[in-house]
Amino acid sequence: MPTRVNRTPHPCRMLALLAGLVLGGLAMPSPGAEAQLVLFNGRILTVDPRDTIVQALAIREGKIMAVGADRDILRLAGAATKRIDLRGRTATPGLIDSHAHIADGGVGELYHVHLSDVSTVVEAVGRVQAGLAALKPGAWLQGEGWDEGKLAERRYLSAADLDRVSPGNPVWLMHTTGHYGVANSAAMRLSRIGASTPNPTAGTIDRDAKGMPTGVLKEAAMDAVLALVPPPTPEEQRKGILKSIDTLHREGITAVKDPSIAQPVWDAYVSLLNEGKLAEHICVLWYAGSTLASAQAALKAISAQPRPPQSLGDGRLLSCGVKIYMDGSGGARTAWLFEDWNKNSTDRDTGNAGYPSTEPEEYRRMVRLFHQAGIHVGTHAVGDRAIDWVVDTYAQVLAENPTPGLRHSIIHANIPSEHAIQVMSMLEGKYAAAYPEAQAPFMWWLGDTYAANFGPERSHRLLPLNTYLKHGIHWGGGSDYSVTPVAARYGLWASVERETLKGTYGAHPFGTAEAVDIHAALRSYTIWGAHQLFLEQRIGSLELGKDADIAVWDRDMYEIPSPELKDLKCELTILHGEVVYVAPRP
Ligand SMILES: [Zn+2]
Repeated sequence: MPTRVNRTPHPCRMLALLAGLVLGGLAMPSPGAEAQLVLFNGRILTVDPRDTIVQALAIREGKIMAVGADRDILRLAGAATKRIDLRGRTATPGLIDSHAHIADGGVGELYHVHLSDVSTVVEAVGRVQAGLAALKPGAWLQGEGWDEGKLAERRYLSAADLDRVSPGNPVWLMHTTGHYGVANSAAMRLSRIGASTPNPTAGTIDRDAKGMPTGVLKEAAMDAVLALVPPPTPEEQRKGILKSIDTLHREGITAVKDPSIAQPVWDAYVSLLNEGKLAEHICVLWYAGSTLASAQAALKAISAQPRPPQSLGDGRLLSCGVKIYMDGSGGARTAWLFEDWNKNSTDRDTGNAGYPSTEPEEYRRMVRLFHQAGIHVGTHAVGDRAIDWVVDTYAQVLAENPTPGLRHSIIHANIPSEHAIQVMSMLEGKYAAAYPEAQAPFMWWLGDTYAANFGPERSHRLLPLNTYLKHGIHWGGGSDYSVTPVAARYGLWASVERETLKGTYGAHPFGTAEAVDIHAALRSYTIWGAHQLFLEQRIGSLELGKDADIAVWDRDMYEIPSPELKDLKCELTILHGEVVYVAPRP
């Protein structure tokens, strides 16, 4: 089936279509145009501009045809209308994750060794040993999800740990952040990493006191191994995406921005779309590399696709723009800071203030190239120095060429300076650009490692959501899955509670002054996220003419005590008016 290009319908067009049906906000019956599905007897949090809560909602042809009181909405139902009695339960717009690596993450879930729940080094090594039992000698074993902050030993895994169980197979275990990992000796030999190998530009080979590589490779130092690790087959890639979509539906998530993809992932998305299996809104960012030449190649790939908000498959798949990395990670202490990193909370990592992962002037040339071509840019920036450089770059290219609405973003934006916050506020207001795409769950899932590395003072500047609100800055919420678990309820909770997983340095090393309430948190996972996916005309709130993307919950997130947000259970997920998930009855 050929791929069709659709323009996002403007709500006004839907209004025209529905004229005669809705008069003065009251739904009126009209022959031949009755609702196909109605939800009633609920508390529907519409997340419209006034945060209106209604009882009922009517759907026709995948779109919301009316919202309001039960008596008005039920009048739109006819003999053929399907009715869902919410029995007092709460519904929200389908949740939106503005940064989740669902294509890669799904492949990992299906085909790699899982380490996100191991709590000791021995346990991690045991998982590797069990995984090797199914492999032929010489075959690569891949695993992911480990984090020294969750290990009792509070240290990195090492090649020596792994070599005992893997003499005959190369092993690569990616850290949960994706910014470093550990190789065994067989993998290092194949990758030609030894005592005399210098650190690459923008990368670190971790070494012991004698200068021998420990197996831990950070940032660009991973490239030598990653070049040898076998990529997923096209079929594995497709299965990985389907696995992720299934998980998203279970969590009430109906739209995702998948950053940093390349052609094989795009091809997998398109093939699933053409087979009618892409039951999710997906907006992708193409990886632009770290040079002007790689940026030009990415621009060529993007130029072959429709520009957002145009989509493939009626809003299902959008080629949204590009991703560039300005720096590394708060986990690896490679993010680019103004002052040196800490270790173990109060120790100094003297001489290490991280580094840019793209040469700063080259980065500026890359952004200018994309901006002048009218392409959305998302830049990964964690450290304060990296974030300053990114927002100043956006300000510069926008001053040169004041195109509004490209929504350039600061991905992660972990510890913005006061200057960066001022620039974000100015650029959002003037050009609809410089939006943080922030992951509140970092404070939880990576929180103990983060508190150790940022140190007690800097930690209070992490993810300043309340300051954003005061400055009128909107942000997209997200998980950075598989860096943290994909469920958006964790992000809703973490935006409000700011608590770490283990409390190694106290439960609230990031303070609570920057906490926001659930109303703001939900906006960041709905309408503000929709804006960062170029889909705010279509999704993100439950309003007339928008797609009927809805999640039904076991509890009312506006009413429950905030510690319970983390345990919300999705009971029903609707995409384009179709039920795509029903929780099994307990
Ligand atoms: Zn990411």
